[in-house]
Amino acid sequence: MDDWPEPSCGPDEVIVTIQGVGLCGSDLAVVSGNREVPALPWVLGHEACGVIVATGDDVAHRFPGQRVVVEPNYPCLACGFCRSGVTAGCRNRRAVGISEPGLLAERVAVPARFTWPVPETWDVTDVVCVEPFTVALNAVRMSGLTAGDTCLVVGAGSQGLLVLLAVLHAGGVPFVVDPHVGRSELAFQMGAQDPAVLPPDATFPAVIETSGAPEAFEHALERTAPGGTLIAVGQSTRPAGISTFLLVQRRLTVRGCLIYDHPAGFAHTIATLGEHDLRPGRVLRERFDLAQAPKAFAQAADIAGKTWISLPRNEEMAR
Ligand SMILES: [Zn+2]
Ligand SMILES: [Zn+2]
Repeated sequence: MDDWPEPSCGPDEVIVTIQGVGLCGSDLAVVSGNREVPALPWVLGHEACGVIVATGDDVAHRFPGQRVVVEPNYPCLACGFCRSGVTAGCRNRRAVGISEPGLLAERVAVPARFTWPVPETWDVTDVVCVEPFTVALNAVRMSGLTAGDTCLVVGAGSQGLLVLLAVLHAGGVPFVVDPHVGRSELAFQMGAQDPAVLPPDATFPAVIETSGAPEAFEHALERTAPGGTLIAVGQSTRPAGISTFLLVQRRLTVRGCLIYDHPAGFAHTIATLGEHDLRPGRVLRERFDLAQAPKAFAQAADIAGKTWISLPRNEEMAR
């Protein structure tokens, strides 16, 4: 926690006064030293929303007072991947909070095209969750889940809970497994079923692994039905042991889901939230003030539900 220079607004940028920031596994990986950042001290955070307070000279479609959520991955928009629409594959992508200074600050500069206006009526908790919910919707789409299908969500951390909501939205029947009792209880409260009610060898046409633990990936593979799809959202550099016999005999599809594409991902999430009462902010449980940020980071990994930091002074200023 320290003073940080005021951001300066480039011609294509806007200055956003931040209202809320969700904490996520990649932030915790930076804090624990498992993920390197270009410089220290560093500004963390990439799941954020706020209000525009200034716009650059070349910005035409954003204005002060507008409420926005930040899309915190900036692909180059020029390479082959970007031109084909698969911006998640961009090798030049700048990742906010990882390769670019993050959003957990009172004011930040953001390229205007990576800010998305959202209605004033939306609760700040739901807006804070737009980015991780976009990942969740993308994972469910990649899984090929159709209405009525069962889906096993492995891991009931914040990303697992958002995937659970996305499965429910798609008309699927979600089962959630997590060794942390508080986390799995929260998932059951939010509409998940307990796989313990099924035979121990029950399999699922769609399985989504959100924890990143290699053991969880192994379990996820074992629970994927013949012809089914396993989507990996969680990640680890530790290897997982997998049986190619199982992979081949069951004709499994395993796909990694890395974020979302620009602009399709955020456009789809914001339209979906406008049309359906999904309230992804329900996964936010512990709220901290900015001054309590160190405590928020220390506790986030052990708390059921997603931890977030709100900047109420900024929220008042915006009104
Ligand atoms: Zn995140
Ligand atoms: Zn690119």
